[in-house]
Amino acid sequence: MRAHEAGALHGQAGDRGPAWLRHPEDVNALVPSLWAENVAKSDGVVTVAGVGVDELAREFGTPLYVLDEADFRHRARSFREAFAGADVYYAGKAFLSVAAARWIAEEGLNLDVCTGGELAVALRAEFPPERIGLHGNNKSVAELRRALEVGVGRIIVDSFEEIGRLGALAGELGVRAPVMVRVTAGVEAHTHEYISTSHEDQKFGFSIAGGDAMEAVRRILADEGLNFLGLHSHIGSQIFVTDGFEVAARRVLRLHAQIASELGVVAPELDLGGGFGIAYTTQDDPSSPETLARGMRGIVEGECAALGVDVPRLSIEPGRAIAGPSTFTLYEIGTTKRVALDGGGARHYVAVDGGMSDNIRPALYSADYSCTLASRESTAEPVLSRVVGKHCESGDIVVKDEYLPADVAPGDLLAVPGTGAYCRSLANNYNHVPRPAVVAVRDGEARLLLRRETEDDLLALDLG
Ligand SMILES: *Cc1c(COP(=O)(O)O)cnc(C)c1O
Repeated sequence: MRAHEAGALHGQAGDRGPAWLRHPEDVNALVPSLWAENVAKSDGVVTVAGVGVDELAREFGTPLYVLDEADFRHRARSFREAFAGADVYYAGKAFLSVAAARWIAEEGLNLDVCTGGELAVALRAEFPPERIGLHGNNKSVAELRRALEVGVGRIIVDSFEEIGRLGALAGELGVRAPVMVRVTAGVEAHTHEYISTSHEDQKFGFSIAGGDAMEAVRRILADEGLNFLGLHSHIGSQIFVTDGFEVAARRVLRLHAQIASELGVVAPELDLGGGFGIAYTTQDDPSSPETLARGMRGIVEGECAALGVDVPRLSIEPGRAIAGPSTFTLYEIGTTKRVALDGGGARHYVAVDGGMSDNIRPALYSADYSCTLASRESTAEPVLSRVVGKHCESGDIVVKDEYLPADVAPGDLLAVPGTGAYCRSLANNYNHVPRPAVVAVRDGEARLLLRRETEDDLLALDLG
């Protein structure tokens, strides 16, 4: 057992947290960097835009995704303002509902979708089709046809078959399809690091190094029905430094310049994708949109000058960085347990009324989260705890390591911040658990965006 960084006193039974986890000075206090702008605590009760979670739990039940609408809108606006002169596409796969699509439209952003289902939500919201981009490595003919019929602004092609299909559909419908080419720059981004690989063993994009990207552009230019807008590169998610972007942007811009010199076509646009990180726990230190914009602009302008080409119109695609911090998940605690550990000590297990059906990221990516007791103040000492769900998997973990007051008990509410992205959108019905509602709070008013699933919803598809 290693020594605890807070001192020997804290290296007691069950206290085996990761190195980054700090023993809290005040276990009741919120760490502001992890929470949406309008979240606060009042006498121990978490409030959002003036509404207490006790009230929200009574009215809407738990688990509940609680979204701070002003925070979501503000983050969207911050990206648009910081990247003025570029186009900001919100990556709808992070979180999409009709209301969210409307907010994105109202804040002046564009929208990325990657399936017919996401496109249907955007169209239901009357999102301007010319501001929609369609992604996906295996779009169906039906999805491509719908996109062309409604007039989406760009289709990011990802395979030679798709180029053929799109050309045929454009001919049939008598339209010109606006296309970008998804390229693999050979840079793989991970949290806190990036790896530059010569082989590019993943499903997305045309390889630059292997020559497929150039060939894709050639085929597009040869097809009258296709309008080549430019190259697209997305290197990964939850990235904190611009270094990975720098390597990717340099490789993509080199190809951009090569297309101009060899094929005589100056592509008007360049999309560098999304992936900007957020703070899930105190170990994360994300950059502001301003810092990202300055860094990315500098890289692109410098590289274009070196290559002697005009700077194309840039676009970026943040998803997590807009939706993620806006939302916390509210759970009710049902059971607690102290489990003896090999070699002595115990771990405090706290089970909540949701889990991997409403947040699969810990199980899928070993993602870390934090949490706070949300319904009262406690004077009990903080103990290292693990928050788990109600599903039939031992990997059903919500928060791997967090200090919670030793007296948390059934009936207490627990709030987990940073669950606005890739939680509701990845939610599932494992164990026939209904998916939670999403409620948006703004200026003291709460309204349902997505209602909770019911038992009838769960049984609706079962034909007996
Ligand atoms: C997922 C994805 C994004 C958004 O990623 P975030 O980490 O949510 O910012 C942007 N572009 C593409 C192509 C994606 O697949």
